[in-house]
Amino acid sequence: MELPFAESWKIKMVEPITKSTREQREEWIKEAGYNVFGLKADQVYIDCLTDSGTGAMSDRQWSAMMMGDESYAGARSFFELKDAIEKITGFKYVIPTHQGRAAENVLFSALVHEGDYVPGNSHFDTTKGHIEFRKAHAVDCTIDEAKDTQKELPFKGNVDPEKLEKVLEQHADKVPFIIVTVTNNTAGGQPVSMANLREVRKIADKYGKRIVLDSARFAENAYFIKKREPGYQDKTIKEICKEMFSLADGMTMSAKKDGLVNMGGFIATRWEDWYEAAKAFVIPFEGYLTYGGMNGRDMAALAVGLDENTEFDTLVTRIHQLELLASLLDEYGIPYQRPIGGHAVFIDALRVLPQIPKNEFPAQTLTIELYKEAGIRGCEIGYILADRDPVTRENRFSGNDFVRLCIPRRVYTDNHIRVIAAALKNVYDRRDEIKRGVEIEWEAELMRHFTVKLKPLQ
Ligand SMILES: *Cc1c(COP(=O)(O)O)cnc(C)c1O
Repeated sequence: MELPFAESWKIKMVEPITKSTREQREEWIKEAGYNVFGLKADQVYIDCLTDSGTGAMSDRQWSAMMMGDESYAGARSFFELKDAIEKITGFKYVIPTHQGRAAENVLFSALVHEGDYVPGNSHFDTTKGHIEFRKAHAVDCTIDEAKDTQKELPFKGNVDPEKLEKVLEQHADKVPFIIVTVTNNTAGGQPVSMANLREVRKIADKYGKRIVLDSARFAENAYFIKKREPGYQDKTIKEICKEMFSLADGMTMSAKKDGLVNMGGFIATRWEDWYEAAKAFVIPFEGYLTYGGMNGRDMAALAVGLDENTEFDTLVTRIHQLELLASLLDEYGIPYQRPIGGHAVFIDALRVLPQIPKNEFPAQTLTIELYKEAGIRGCEIGYILADRDPVTRENRFSGNDFVRLCIPRRVYTDNHIRVIAAALKNVYDRRDEIKRGVEIEWEAELMRHFTVKLKPLQ
């Protein structure tokens, strides 16, 4: 008999999680203003709010913590981190920061100016924010197919080379760099192929431009290249990572994702001039060059995390959980964005609850139902998150309305994944009984999803 798939780790320390009753959850979500961000974590059974900073560290990482060097300048832990990054990426200049957006803030302070254009594939919110805050334009050059939730493509995160070339033809002198996000978070954790990175490199070279990889999930991207792109099956994840970064000039990193740590980030580059320019901003914004925003012990743990997460076994265990979830949703007929990405499933709420009008927020309604059903905390990536149009103050109902369920790294077992799928099925099976959605009682002007107060409609 073929042995079933199982995790490539065993458990040495456990953290209890609390089950609750439906009555308790109905009370708690009401107190939270029907906004899952307002819940206490202890009121959640399985937390799928985000995969950012929610992973579990290994015994090797915890022992590295004890060896952390907290020297202000020239800490040993910094050099361990720098060596680990250089080994994986080939980039020899490294600047630690307290998280990914801080890496963007430091690097973009040096490189992005008013009136610039920064083309890329679905810039992440904070990336876009740091570009627009500097009165520059983030131009989305993702392939059109990424918008079709039901279309199965192996590399749905790719850059459309024609769109990219058009931006460069029109604005070449105003483009400080091209940014490619791996995996493409905003498009649903969808990977970018090596062939696409090569095409982007060719266009960049033609116009004499550099490329930054927004690398939060670079290891997951390498895993998908190994599994899906011809010619990479026999290469190691580390070899694939090296090749990905060889096609770029620098990176910003949120280490809270593929760094397998709870807080941290960095900039790395092969270019001394970029390093010199960024140096001027890291000291006032983050800290001295050899710690940026990080503790010595946290840099030590990150060095180990980067090494562990560029091993096939770590990644196959993680992606298997996403694949398991997808296969169960397929069995139950629950519509989600296809194919499943590397860190989350996006449930298509408009297809689950077509009877709920858009101005009653179907995805938020489904998020609340899922919490009430089983204490599972997902997150609306839809019409509440989209905020209002800054000019007309109308809600923006043109995009997708998703419930995102992120899977933290090395935290839950396959049994928890089965609970998530079963809870979704229970809600899906009684979807016709859900007749009304929610209305907004109070909202902030910007980024309202974090603090919005809602009321269920009867
Ligand atoms: C999370 C993330 C960031 C921002 O990183 P933080 O650590 O949350 O500040 C930037 N880009 C991508 C693609 C991300 O997923």
